[in-house]
Amino acid sequence: MADVENVIIIGSGPAGYTASLYTSRANLNPLCIEGFMWGGLLQQTTDVENYPGFPEGIMGPEMMQKFRDQAERFGTRFITDNVTKFEPGSGGEPHTVWVDDEAYKARTVILAMGAEHKKLGVPGEDELGGRGVSYCATCDAAFYKDRTTIIVGGGDSAMEEAIFLAKFSSKVTIVHRRDEFRASKIMLERAKAVENIEFLTPYTVKAFLPGDNGQLDRADLINTETGEELVVPMAGAFIAIGHEPQSAIVDGLIDVDDEGYVKVDGRSTRTNIPGVFAAGDLVDHTYRQAITASGSGCQAALDAEWYLRDNPAVPTPAALEGTGNLAEEQWAPVARS
Ligand code: NAP
Repeated sequence: MADVENVIIIGSGPAGYTASLYTSRANLNPLCIEGFMWGGLLQQTTDVENYPGFPEGIMGPEMMQKFRDQAERFGTRFITDNVTKFEPGSGGEPHTVWVDDEAYKARTVILAMGAEHKKLGVPGEDELGGRGVSYCATCDAAFYKDRTTIIVGGGDSAMEEAIFLAKFSSKVTIVHRRDEFRASKIMLERAKAVENIEFLTPYTVKAFLPGDNGQLDRADLINTETGEELVVPMAGAFIAIGHEPQSAIVDGLIDVDDEGYVKVDGRSTRTNIPGVFAAGDLVDHTYRQAITASGSGCQAALDAEWYLRDNPAVPTPAALEGTGNLAEEQWAPVARS
């Protein structure tokens, strides 16, 4: 039988890398399958000013590189690819994690796949993706130098993206469906202080429309109170309306709520499948901060460590070959006491 890992962490970002750090420091020799686009949503962020320990702020990608380096320093092994399938084991059997045709077995699995950008679901959005419609100002703002753009959304992400985009675009219009903003006061005020940022409320996008060249040319907006329609010309539209948990690989296998967030038991990170834990934005409707995701990655690592300690009957790689001695395992003395 193939080797069985102590712990596989699926996903990266603050939750996955913190779980990797803690499980590697617990001598569990973790395998982190971090995804092809490793580092999570912070890879698409500019300044992170609210993570304690960085008084001058730090760029999101640099921060994720540091998280990864720290986990690697203590022995985390990484596979920079996407998990394609997950099969929970039953009755103490190992769980199986697939990357295409390659199967990896593990006694515990920490799910930390995070969340992705939510879509508006309007005509033209998919068709004009990469041709004017984008979900990442940090990635694409430079394409819109001296051109007009819009940001859709009213949260902190919308403000942050608008402020960044305004360094390139001639004019950025924040289009939001209500007159009130969900964004924090400080972010809203920062956006309002930028000369080339304007606000258009209460409007939603009805459709994105191409020009003759096939690129985004304009959007049909609709006033959510009066129903009045408005055509706004633009070169770029950035959607910043929140996130969706990336729980597709566990769909139907692990309990998730109506919005697809993985359910955990109370304040723990335990899912309904023994030995499978979940952390970060994948479980979090509410806080969704780098620091809270990190904290829950730490909790998941400890939950996994305690599970291994308390379930020595779960076969070890050596025991599966018929040569191991469970008592030699580092958690066994604790479990016997
Ligand atoms: P969010 O706070 O959930 O805000 C989403 C915004 O999009 C809301 O204004 C919402 O409108 C709007 N929206 C949602 N669905 C929509 C739709 N179908 N059509 C039109 N508008 C729609 O998401 P977020 O801004 O991504 O922030 C997520 C978390 O990260 C928050 O806790 C935030 O504080 C944090 N964050 C912090 C920073 C920072 O401090 N630098 C930066 C980015 C994010 P309604 O308000 O009407 O619901």
